[in-house]
Amino acid sequence: MSGSVIVIDHPLVQHKLTLMRRKETSTAEFRRLLREISALMGYEVTRDLALEYVEIDTPLAPMQAPIVAGLKPVLVSILRAGGGILEGVLDVIPSARVGHIGLYRDHETLEAVQYYFKMPDRVEDRLVIAVDPMLATGHSAVAAVDKIKAKGPREVRFVCLVAAPEGVAHFHEHHPDVPVWTAAVDSHLDENGYIVPGLGDAGDRIFGTK
Ligand code: URA
Repeated sequence: MSGSVIVIDHPLVQHKLTLMRRKETSTAEFRRLLREISALMGYEVTRDLALEYVEIDTPLAPMQAPIVAGLKPVLVSILRAGGGILEGVLDVIPSARVGHIGLYRDHETLEAVQYYFKMPDRVEDRLVIAVDPMLATGHSAVAAVDKIKAKGPREVRFVCLVAAPEGVAHFHEHHPDVPVWTAAVDSHLDENGYIVPGLGDAGDRIFGTK
């Protein structure tokens, strides 16, 4: 089974991504754009959520009105760059629960090493949306989703800004049942595991650490 990739081709998403890619874009501007684009991506990744009807009273009349069914989704931020996407997705799902997975990339092996893991309760009854701006080698995404699946979630979705074809392939070898929502699938990875053309190191650009 090969997994699905949904490229979010909304013009506002594409426009904001272009501004983020530019090397002249400042840290403040990058952060602001990331928050805005993540809200739009959050809107897309939740567009098929099930609704149920509840009885409410408007100032004029009672009515049956739709609300999102079931327990609140869980947003899982893959540290540290996932935090940038998390803020924007929370703008559109403010009552979502939040989990964190701390992974760092071993620069020699490019493998993901876990240093932190915290999830809300009842994951087995919830949709989990894992977020990380860059799906590069796919190692940390695979490791994060391995840990999430160990909690038995009802469903897992993955959201990133930019993906490499190699990363998508590696991710779906391990997790063909987890769809990937992204604003772009770029050309390739370079020898250091960076996405080309990409946007550079997302964490450094968010936090101004370079
Ligand atoms: N992580 C990043 O932040 N950027 C890349 O291009 C690859 C991995």
